[in-house]
Amino acid sequence: MERIIIVGSGPAGLTASLYASRAGLSPLCIEGYLPQGQLMNTTEVENFPGFPQGIQGPELMMNMRAQAEKFGARFVTDNASKLELAGDVKKVWVGETLYETRTVILATGASSVKVGIPSEEEYLYGKGISTCATCDGAFYRKLTVAVLGGGDSAMEEANFLTNFAAKVYLVHRREEFRASRVMVERTKENAKIELVTPYTVEEFLGDGKLLSGLRLKNAKDGSERILKVDGTFVAIGHRPNTELFADQVALDSKGYVQCQGRGQATSVEGVFAAGDLQDPTYKQAITSAGSGCVAALDAQHYLEHHGW
Ligand code: NAP
Repeated sequence: MERIIIVGSGPAGLTASLYASRAGLSPLCIEGYLPQGQLMNTTEVENFPGFPQGIQGPELMMNMRAQAEKFGARFVTDNASKLELAGDVKKVWVGETLYETRTVILATGASSVKVGIPSEEEYLYGKGISTCATCDGAFYRKLTVAVLGGGDSAMEEANFLTNFAAKVYLVHRREEFRASRVMVERTKENAKIELVTPYTVEEFLGDGKLLSGLRLKNAKDGSERILKVDGTFVAIGHRPNTELFADQVALDSKGYVQCQGRGQATSVEGVFAAGDLQDPTYKQAITSAGSGCVAALDAQHYLEHHGW
């Protein structure tokens, strides 16, 4: 019988693993087939405290993993395939292998929605296409960037990027915006932002190494337009990775886990959640790590309370 199983190994899962292992609980982390989360896809991380020179995303994640392992966290490098979360004994399957545990910390993160065209893969992460303005905006000082999307995230990112970029195009497939009125007004009033609507991205252009532009198609008349940009921020939404247990813990209307009260408890006793799968708002490595810490402490208290 395990005491804590952590499903997921981004900043939330690894911080939970670190705290649980230092508490002597020898947690088992089902880290996934492609482990360590979204930061494995970023280059330099400049906003994680403690690294004044910045640190590469993958290096930060490997450090977090090594730190948890040092104190006794164990890892299974595969995806959890099935969970049974109700009751005092929870069940976690990895393929045919069944693990039984008293508590589970869900930390499967979120995935940013992509445009989904082949040329996007070519320039994603470090080559001109980013999914996080907070992370990568500062690399585009005095340059020209595009933001894709018409929701609050796209508006927020476009406005934020004007702190760095000389020019920001906001490219959206419709002429109406899903974003709140105040965000739309703020965006329209920002002299550095130009709205490009209604356009869809047909192709990301470049030399194979760096993005240099977008080939756009007008959604109304079908005409094409080339937009020269140094970077593009895809802000067309995130999807929490909660399909595996969607029918077992309470989720909000968008599929994010709903935590109860001040801590990281879910609607199921002994099941806790941490990181982007329960956070539609902040979505930062440091906030994920913080919630991973809280989830581990909550799980520890739960085990102590039951004398397990
Ligand atoms: P969102 O509200 O779902 O908006 C996604 C946007 O991307 C929409 O404009 C959508 O276009 C577009 N889109 C979706 N799929 C696309 C595709 N395949 N190709 C091109 N465009 C596509 O997502 P979000 O902006 O990330 O916001 C998520 C939630 O967080 C919202 O509830 C939002 O209010 C909230 N949020 C709030 C703040 C704030 O208050 N400061 C900041 C950020 C986010 P259509 O409109 O045509 O569907």
